[in-house]
Amino acid sequence: MTDLYAVIGNPIAHSKSPRIHAEFARQLGEDLRYEAILAPRDAFAAAVSAFRAAGGRGLNVTVPFKLEAFELATERTERAVQAQAVNTLSFDGAAVFGDNTDGAGLIADLRDRLGFAIRGKRVLIMGAGGAARGVILPLLAQEPAALSIANRTVERALALERQFAAFGPVRGGGYAELGGHAFHLVVNATSAGLAGELPPLPRGIFAPGSLAYDMTYGEDSTRFLAHARAEGAAQVADGLGMLVAQAAESFFIWRGRRPDIRPVIDLLRAG
Ligand code: NDP
Repeated sequence: MTDLYAVIGNPIAHSKSPRIHAEFARQLGEDLRYEAILAPRDAFAAAVSAFRAAGGRGLNVTVPFKLEAFELATERTERAVQAQAVNTLSFDGAAVFGDNTDGAGLIADLRDRLGFAIRGKRVLIMGAGGAARGVILPLLAQEPAALSIANRTVERALALERQFAAFGPVRGGGYAELGGHAFHLVVNATSAGLAGELPPLPRGIFAPGSLAYDMTYGEDSTRFLAHARAEGAAQVADGLGMLVAQAAESFFIWRGRRPDIRPVIDLLRAG
């Protein structure tokens, strides 16, 4: 029997997940169907119940429901607990398993596709929202020399420093405090690019040989990545690889098999 999966969010029409998972299934010969569900903003739980009643096996959860998905889960992985957000739900009888694959997606893209080793490197994350919180623990697990978090609202970066201090060398602060420091990896986890804006970065933060990574992709990443190149970053990448890699991690949770992300990234880039 064909197994049923879906991505749920609001809005959802532009989600690339159905195409990504259809490609994964084709690649591995898995018998599944993957749909997109537009849930009313005040009726996430009801939409999940209806999906389960129809035989649904698992859901990807996107904006604005990751926190509600976290609350709905009856069991959660450590990485979901630290992210305080769930982007992957799996259903097994009455149990609802909640996981967060965003961080694993970023690490897989950095390490396996871009060949960037985080161990011993100085890492900067810009932003302190849900995306930043989800990647801090997986980044610290790679043993960077230091992990700095800079945010426009400084208190949010300091709160993340407090939350993750026990897991590794993490520092929070504002952008102005970055002056005089250079990083090997600079990750843009802000939504500034969506508004065509650039976080207020001081000069000189890109160390020689550094990688600039923008979690947004396509046009939304152009401004930051162009700035990074002009400021001396040796390599730049947008977040399409992370998007496909986090989907691959969800696919693995559900199906126990790992798809190859490269051909799927190429396909999406081709339009
Ligand atoms: P949130 O709304 O939770 O957080 C947004 C963050 O961006 C905050 O830290 C905010 O700062 C900061 N910010 C917004 N505008 C500006 C600006 N003009 N200058 C400086 N900082 C700014 O969003 P998320 O964390 O959920 O998502 C962030 C981005 O990551 C989104 O663009 C999202 O699409 C992308 N993403 C990509 C994924 C992928 O797989 N490629 C996965 C997850 C997210 P402040 O706190 O001061 O408001």
